[in-house]
Amino acid sequence: MRIDKMLANLGFGSRKEVKKLLKDGAVKVNDRVIKDAKEHVEPEKDTVTLHGEAVEYKEFIYLMMNKPPGVISATEDNHDQTVIDLLEMEDAVYSPFPVGRLDKDTEGLLLITNDGQLSHRLLSPKKHVPKTYFAVIDQEVTDEDVEAFRQGVVLDDGYETKPGELKILKSGPRSDIELTITEGKFHQVKRMFEAVGKKVVYLKRLSMGPLELDESLELGEYRELTDEEIQSLM
Ligand code: URA
Repeated sequence: MRIDKMLANLGFGSRKEVKKLLKDGAVKVNDRVIKDAKEHVEPEKDTVTLHGEAVEYKEFIYLMMNKPPGVISATEDNHDQTVIDLLEMEDAVYSPFPVGRLDKDTEGLLLITNDGQLSHRLLSPKKHVPKTYFAVIDQEVTDEDVEAFRQGVVLDDGYETKPGELKILKSGPRSDIELTITEGKFHQVKRMFEAVGKKVVYLKRLSMGPLELDESLELGEYRELTDEEIQSLM
């Protein structure tokens, strides 16, 4: 890859601004000052520094966010803040996007990456990737609901869901539950409860496939996935 392209891709300026940095002698590759913008580097092998600071290049970025309520899981929105707006510039330069959608009021695990193939695999209906949610329900959740979800329920548009695994954590006039589903229909968890006459009043995603929400992340915080977490998704 050309050195000017690499630095521009990383957000160090336009191609023109990067050319100026090179001309000023600010860039070294393997301890050698490089002034020619056409010079080729192997981004993951060569040591590149800018003003003496090492420049890390990676093709893909993998972030786990604890999505806060009130924020849209999209890259752009005309009215609301998006999860991408919450990223630091150094992460946003990779043009990442959220893998799938959580509703505006839903919290919890959101994977944000620029790895389109991984995103495709995780979202493909054929792969049946399990997603587990914690929810608070406005009334008592019963064993009949557990059985109904195990069989599959019929949503408002006539679609019959695949089996879902419903666990009652606390039953009462407001119940706490955990639900694992392997599909991702629009508002699926909310609509599954509507199908049994109940309402989700709080929803948080806990996991997606092997990836679990890091509970030490505050709402709106995010971190890079560890190498192990990335491997588990491949
Ligand atoms: N199901 C929902 O109803 N909403 C979400 O955000 C995710 C799953």
